[in-house]
Amino acid sequence: MAGIAVLCEVQGGQVAKGSLGVLEEAARLGQAIGEPVTAVVTGSGLDDVALAALGGHGAATVVAADDPRLGAGLAQPVVDACAAAQEAGQSRYWLAGASIMTADAMAGLAARLGAGIVIDAVELHADGSDLVTRRSGLGDSVLAHCGFTTPVGVVVTRANSFAPTEGASGSAPVERIQPSFRSWSEGVELVGHEDAEDSGPDIGAADVLVAGGRGLGDAGGFAVIEDCAAAFGGAVAATRAVVDAGWYPYSAQVGQTGKTVSPKLYIACGISGAIQHKVGMQGSGTIVAINKDKNAPIFDYADLGVVGDLHDIVPKLTELIRARG
Ligand SMILES: Cc1cc2nc3c(=O)[nH]c(=O)nc-3n(C[C@H](O)[C@H](O)[C@H](O)COP(=O)(O)OP(=O)(O)OC[C@H]3O[C@@H](n4cnc5c(N)ncnc54)[C@H](O)[C@@H]3O)c2cc1C
Repeated sequence: MAGIAVLCEVQGGQVAKGSLGVLEEAARLGQAIGEPVTAVVTGSGLDDVALAALGGHGAATVVAADDPRLGAGLAQPVVDACAAAQEAGQSRYWLAGASIMTADAMAGLAARLGAGIVIDAVELHADGSDLVTRRSGLGDSVLAHCGFTTPVGVVVTRANSFAPTEGASGSAPVERIQPSFRSWSEGVELVGHEDAEDSGPDIGAADVLVAGGRGLGDAGGFAVIEDCAAAFGGAVAATRAVVDAGWYPYSAQVGQTGKTVSPKLYIACGISGAIQHKVGMQGSGTIVAINKDKNAPIFDYADLGVVGDLHDIVPKLTELIRARG
């Protein structure tokens, strides 16, 4: 067994941002453990140029399975395609960023290969020439290191745990394979698909998130956060404490029971930095924390910390950003 395969999900005709982030993380890890990375893309009507461009995100090779049965968003045909890729490539590890489809497909692949599987990994590390994951447990109160005792290891990372590089360029050779589909894989038809409607802005896609916590004092405190987010052209996020209090919509909640985000910049205002919040935003590019308590846990993992009253600091920050145009 050799190499790392990354299942890349296609959504709306493009490889999902979450898959690109995992691919880049796999490339970093592959360098550390001396394993090449293969991007495995499944779908219908896949474009060769777009496939080759995955080389810019760390793929040494791209394996594409292109079939109408793979374009419906159903997991079982994807298991067949991954099994065919595995037969050809004999990868040592399989990785995928979590989504409804990939979590199902990776579970199916692990069962097919008799492989160990780690779900909800938030970090990937090298231990000599082996991959070790870090996954949360016991309601995110602990982070456990998990490796594999099986010849093949399968990892599903928490959604949006790894952010891809913008404007990456590069190219990789593309090899097309034709999987054979099991009879049961063709026994299900997707008859409809509806996206849940969020009441707020899409915090998963924003480059800048300005997040508010209980330190805002009350629901009205979000006015300064919204103002600041607007100045950055970003979106507003929140802790569970404030959404539970009814200060802001649930769609903005970041953390274990909310969304996992990885913006370029995350500005945490009046947020203590509890582990359940941290697991949802630790993949952010730069974390700035504004808190009046210099011992707040968030300062342990913020890149930049400002000790002070957010009601004084945030409006000044907004003013500065606006002044820069
Ligand atoms: C099973 C479980 C799941 C959970 N899931 C989530 C989740 O998904 N997301 C999540 O966020 N939490 C989650 N929590 C809750 C989490 O444990 C914390 O309680 C929560 O994140 C705290 O929110 P907070 O930081 O807004 O409030 P607090 O912990 O009360 O922190 C408020 C902070 O504001 C600071 N402050 C006060 N006034 C000011 C001011 N004027 N200027 C600057 N700073 C000020 C204080 O110093 C303090 O550090 C979960 C808990 C459990 C048990």
